[in-house]
Amino acid sequence: DAFVVKVAKAKHLNAFLVETPDHALAAARAADAARAGGQTLKPLAGVPIGMKDLFCTKGVATTAASHILEGFVPTYESTISQKLWDAGAGMLGKLNMDQFAMGSSNETSAFGNVISPWRRPGSDAPLAPGGSSGGSSSAVAAGLCPGATGTDTGGSIRQPAAFTGISGIKPTYGRCSRWGTIAFASSLDQAGPMARDVRDCAILLEAMAGFDAKDATSLQLDVPRWEQGLSGDLRGVRVGIPREYRFEGSGDGLNYDLEGLASIGATWKAGIDWLRDAGAEIVEVSLPHTKYALPAYYIIAPAEASSNLARYDGVRYGLRDLPEGAGLQDMYAATRAAGFGPEVKRRIMIGTYVLSAGFYDAYYTQAQKVRTLIARDFERAWETCDVLLTPTAPSAAFALGEKSADPIAMYLNDVFTVPSSLAGLPAMSVPGGLDKQGLPLGLQIIGKPLDEQGVLNAGLAIE
Ligand code: GLN
Repeated sequence: DAFVVKVAKAKHLNAFLVETPDHALAAARAADAARAGGQTLKPLAGVPIGMKDLFCTKGVATTAASHILEGFVPTYESTISQKLWDAGAGMLGKLNMDQFAMGSSNETSAFGNVISPWRRPGSDAPLAPGGSSGGSSSAVAAGLCPGATGTDTGGSIRQPAAFTGISGIKPTYGRCSRWGTIAFASSLDQAGPMARDVRDCAILLEAMAGFDAKDATSLQLDVPRWEQGLSGDLRGVRVGIPREYRFEGSGDGLNYDLEGLASIGATWKAGIDWLRDAGAEIVEVSLPHTKYALPAYYIIAPAEASSNLARYDGVRYGLRDLPEGAGLQDMYAATRAAGFGPEVKRRIMIGTYVLSAGFYDAYYTQAQKVRTLIARDFERAWETCDVLLTPTAPSAAFALGEKSADPIAMYLNDVFTVPSSLAGLPAMSVPGGLDKQGLPLGLQIIGKPLDEQGVLNAGLAIE
């Protein structure tokens, strides 16, 4: 009940698009009844969860924060949400996000910015909660829910977690079913939990993961007991520090804020010391193709998005704009013009361009080759280390509006998170410390395929 009240009172954060107090309260009552009846409780009995509005929820409006899905009420439940309800959890509501999960600040939502509960000292300027899972990060950081779901295509769980001082893990590609989750870039999309600490992430991920015959890329593997396996003892673990993640500010024409980078460097160093204190051996590694990851991602993700978003045509879902006397083509055009936001349109245009006959080889094929090279970089690194430690993002949370006019500046925020996405590796962000202004900075742990346990353990040693 307390969480339902908190959500209702926290409208100023704009984290929830829809509140579903009855759903959460029903789970709480079921847990009370089980407890009173002396039954064994389900792992998430009564736990109120916020659901990113990318997951289809039966009977509850699901929009991906886009006007084009306005009025769409799924008749089915996504595998991820169903698994959470089967584990005893209840839904507090649907969380705001970047439109179709495209963005790093939550400013592309058709339903207004989400605001981070954090502020710079002496300033009232609202800060970005990160994106695209910005409703999730803001809600968890503000204490509106103990845990939330996120999705991560190129960093959308990790970067918002870093911006708001919480934890979040993207598991190995294929661990969590994509069935019933609105698709952005299908070869990259992965669901994962966002929570206050590493243990809660482990508990939530256990409930969310697992084979699903309805998703052709789902891995046919049992779900490990990650929570039981948690250990802050890293003796015998080799932690790799990738040389190429030390961005100097001026290289490659990338303009980073140098003062911000100094804070991140200091936090990274502290993280290395904590892992060493926990018994880990620190080794330097090289991931030589790192600088090509961001451009490759911003070809592959839009290419897949342009294909996935072709289905929003005014016929099948949500919005339909049918001008007087219009034909079918006019209806498609009018619906898509009115329904998609500017960033989504940009991605569709980029994606269509890089997939077009004349440019396919120059862009899309090249990007796929780069993707292979990035994956090989990681494979080579695993010969000398077990996990990698890097910063999550090149800056602390920026102010709303600060980067929204410059898509490239926004994309640069994903520089540390996209390489592991392209390689399908498990990766987590944990709070690493504060910058000079007292804003949270995240540290990222990247693991070998299927080694969520190694990632969680290193995360535990840092938090
Ligand atoms: N910020 C990245 C993008 O806009 C990542 C988004 C995501 O992981 N969903 O594509």
